[in-house]
Amino acid sequence: MQTIEPARAVNILFIEDQADIAALIRRRLSAHAGAGMVITHVSDLRSGLAALKTAAFDVVMTDLNLPDSRGVETVHRLLKICRYIPVVVLSAVDEDQAILDTVESGAQEYIVKGQTDGHVIARTIRQAIKRKQAELKLRRLAHYDSLTGLANRSQFRRRLEQALERGARRRSSVALMMIDLDRFKAVNDTLGHQAGDRMLVMVAKRLRSCLRECDKVARLGGDEFTVTLEEVQSPDQAAAIAQKIVEAISRPFLVGGQEFYVTPSIGITLHPLDGDNADALIRNADTAMYRVKAGGRNGFKFFTPAMNELTGERLRMQAALRQAIDRNELVLHYQPKVSLHSGRLRGVEALLRWQRAGGRLLAPAEFIPLAEDTGLILPIGEWVLKAALGQIRRWSGLGLPGTRVSVNISPRQFRQCDLAAVVASALSQTELAGGHLEVEITEGVLMDDTEASVATLKRLKDLGVGIAIDDFGTGYSSLHYLKRFPIDTLKIDHSFVSDIPHDHDDATITQAIIGLARNLRLNVIAEGVETKEQLAFLRANHCDAGQGYLFSAPLDTAQMTGYLRRERVRTDLGETTPQPLARHG
Ligand code: C2E
Ligand code: MG
Ligand code: MG
Repeated sequence: MQTIEPARAVNILFIEDQADIAALIRRRLSAHAGAGMVITHVSDLRSGLAALKTAAFDVVMTDLNLPDSRGVETVHRLLKICRYIPVVVLSAVDEDQAILDTVESGAQEYIVKGQTDGHVIARTIRQAIKRKQAELKLRRLAHYDSLTGLANRSQFRRRLEQALERGARRRSSVALMMIDLDRFKAVNDTLGHQAGDRMLVMVAKRLRSCLRECDKVARLGGDEFTVTLEEVQSPDQAAAIAQKIVEAISRPFLVGGQEFYVTPSIGITLHPLDGDNADALIRNADTAMYRVKAGGRNGFKFFTPAMNELTGERLRMQAALRQAIDRNELVLHYQPKVSLHSGRLRGVEALLRWQRAGGRLLAPAEFIPLAEDTGLILPIGEWVLKAALGQIRRWSGLGLPGTRVSVNISPRQFRQCDLAAVVASALSQTELAGGHLEVEITEGVLMDDTEASVATLKRLKDLGVGIAIDDFGTGYSSLHYLKRFPIDTLKIDHSFVSDIPHDHDDATITQAIIGLARNLRLNVIAEGVETKEQLAFLRANHCDAGQGYLFSAPLDTAQMTGYLRRERVRTDLGETTPQPLARHG
C-alpha cells in the first residue's frame, strides 16, 4: 500500500466537463493548498480512464454527469480501475439521491458543487485518501499476519484449497506440513513477549529460506506455522525439505545478546494420498504433528491412517454415528431469526444435535467433522433437510405461522451429493414450496468456483430456495463470488458481532459487511447477538435481522412450538400480516 508523506504533493485527477467549474475549483484549491495539491484536469471519462492508466494519482475527483457517462455509472466505471485510489464525487445540490447512490457504490466522499471553499475541498480529499488507506489496511489485516508478514489462517486455507485444485488438475501431489515450535512458551515466559515475537519473525525468515519460490508458508497463530508444497514428486522430496527445516530452526537464535534454542515438530500429509480435501489434510497434518510431540519432539513424521485408527474412541464414535439415523438419535433444535425493525420472526435455523445412546446431547462441532471425514455427512445431511421441512409442514398443520427454515449444508455435502435433487425430493415429499427453505453455505464452498457449484446454486434458486452465506467474513470474502453466485443473504459471523461496538476493527468490518450487502441488494443478518448494545449498533447501521441468545437460544421442537404460538398471538393482534404457507406444485 502506498502512503502519502506530508512532504509530497497530492496528485489529483480531476474529471469535469464544465470549464468554468473546473477553473473555479482549481483556483480555490490552489489558493488554499498551493503546491501541496497538483491537479490534472480532463473533461470526459474516456480521457480520465486513459490518464489513470499512464500516470499515478492519489485521488480521483469527478463530476457525475460527463459527456460520455452519466450518474452512478461514472463511479462504477472508475472503480473498475481505481482499486487502490479513492474516488471523490462532485455533485450539484439537487442530486441528493445520486450522491447517496455513489457513496454506497464505493465512492469515498462527495463534494457539493458551489457550496464549498478550497479548505473544505482539500479536507475532503485528504479524508478520502485516509479512508481508502484504512480500507486497504483492513483488507491486508484480513489476509496477513501482521507480525511476520506471512499469510494468516484464512489466506492459508484459501491458498491450500487453490493448491489442491491445481494439483488435481495437473495430477500432481501436494504436501502439507504443520509446524509447531517445541518449548516456545518457555522462551516467551523467560524472555518476554517482545523477544518471543522477534524470535517468531526470525523463524518465519528461516522457514522461507528452506523453500522454493512457489512453496507457501503461513502462520496460523502463536508458534504454529504451515508449509504447503506443490508438485511434490515423492514423499522423499517432502522429507528432505522437512529435514532442512528441522536443521534451520534448530540453529541457535540470538535474542537480546543471548543464544536460545527451539526445535520444530512437523507433521506431514500428502494430497491426494491421505485425504481429498483441505479439512482432512489439516487434521491429518495436525495428528502427525502431535505424534512427533508425543514421541519426544524435534523432527517430522508423515501421517498414516493408523494414527487415526489408534484412537479407539474415534472408531467407536464412527460406528455409533453410522447407526444414529436408524436409531432416531439425531434431533433438530431451532433458533429464531428476528427482524431488527419489527422484532417479528423471520424464520428459524435448524441446528443438529446427536442424542447418543446412554450419553449426553452432542453439539455439531463434536461429530460433524467425523461425519465429513467418513462421508456419513451425506445421509445425515439428507435426514436434516427432510426432518426440518417435515417439521415446517407439521407446524403449518397446527395452524402456526408458516415460517421458513434454514439448513446448514457442509462443503462435502455440497460437492458430493446432488444437492438440488435431494432438496427437490424433500420439498415434494413435504409438499412445500421452495420459499420455505434456505440453505446456509460457507464461503469455502464458493471458493471452488466451479461450473458445478454455480449450476447447483442456480437450480436451488429455480426451486425458490434461498441461499445464505454463513459465517461471512471469516473466509475468503470476495465481491467476485458474491456477484457470480445467486446469493440472497449474508450472515455476519458472530466473531465480529461479539466485540461490537467496543472493538473498532470488528465494528468497521460489521459496518462494511452491512454496506456491502446493501450495495449488492442482499439481505444481511447478524449471528450471535447477545447484548442490547450489539443490537443498538446493528440497528443504527441498518442491519436487517439478527439471531442470538438475546432473542432466543436454539429451542427444541416443543419449545419452538410454544414460541410460534406466541408469535401467532402477536400476529392476531395485527402487528403484521402472516405469511401464508404456499403449496408446492
Ligand atoms: P452456525 O450455522 O454458524 O450456527 C450458529 C451457532 O451459533 C449454533 O451453534 C448456535 O447455537 C450458536 N449460537 C446461537 N446464538 C448464539 C449467541 O448468541 N452466542 C453464541 N456464542 N453462539 C450462538 P451450534 O448449534 O453448536 O452449531 C455449530 C455449527 O455446526 C453451526 O454453525 C453449523 O455450521 C454446524 N451445523 C449445525 N447443524 C448442522 C447441520 O445440520 N448440518 C451441518 N452440515 N452443519 C451443521
Ligand atoms: Mg448456520
Ligand atoms: Mg454461522
